[in-house]
Amino acid sequence: MRIDILTIFPEMFEAPLSGSIIGKARERGLVEINIHNIRDFAVDKNKVTDDYPFGGGVGMIMKPEPIFAATEHVLKETGGGPSRIILMTPQGQTLNQDMVRRLAKEESIIIICGRYEGIDERCREGLVTDEISIGDYVLTGGELPAMVLVDAVTRFVPGVLSEDALISESFQGGLLDYPQYTRPREFRGMGVPCVLVSGDHEKIRLWRRKQALARTLKRRPDLLSRASLSCEDLRLLDDIKREQLADLTREDPENEYD
Ligand code: SAM
Repeated sequence: MRIDILTIFPEMFEAPLSGSIIGKARERGLVEINIHNIRDFAVDKNKVTDDYPFGGGVGMIMKPEPIFAATEHVLKETGGGPSRIILMTPQGQTLNQDMVRRLAKEESIIIICGRYEGIDERCREGLVTDEISIGDYVLTGGELPAMVLVDAVTRFVPGVLSEDALISESFQGGLLDYPQYTRPREFRGMGVPCVLVSGDHEKIRLWRRKQALARTLKRRPDLLSRASLSCEDLRLLDDIKREQLADLTREDPENEYD
């Protein structure tokens, strides 16, 4: 997969995109990541990339010419094949694991990082195919959101992580991940659930599934309503709800279920 990032702060990407899983994926040739300085595509001699907004108002707006020129340069390099041209913006669709998985199947994506008060609207009209937000808050630039997107997408590029690693993670199958423990078995008076050291793989599988369901029910019931659940999951959920009710009754002897 090829990822091209357009930014006026290329130096920000050095460390986050060279270490760990992404760095290795690049070394192994599984992902090619190119950072382009939008300033290099500015048309005037002072390399200006922003200007005042028409109609007045605070802040500056990124000019359309350098953004179009930088994107067209990348499209020429990639042979003009179908490329998703993604604008990072708080006005976009909020990033989630399904979007990440879909984007990882693309051969090539171009990511535009905005700055100041954002980009000239004509870039949206004439260039951008997708607008992505990383959450309902405003950052000073699109570079951190772009890094988030690249990190999340790279993990799904075939060969970067093992299938097992991806399967056991939060949002896979619509659930949050189950609790994990490592050595030591006893830490500051806190132990590890006995089932995890029982060696009984079926019991461990069931315990983990139940924990994932219970955690999702408690923290993200919205996910649970969209998850594809098996008959076993539904039985486990019934158990969880019964246990929660029993806990509630124990905690409050006055409550209506007593
Ligand atoms: N005035 C713009 C608006 O309200 O939509 C916000 C501009 S913001 C200060 C500058 C740039 O940061 C944006 O163009 C965008 O590229 C990036 N950005 C800020 N928050 C973001 C978010 N939550 N998700 C993705 N990109 C974001």
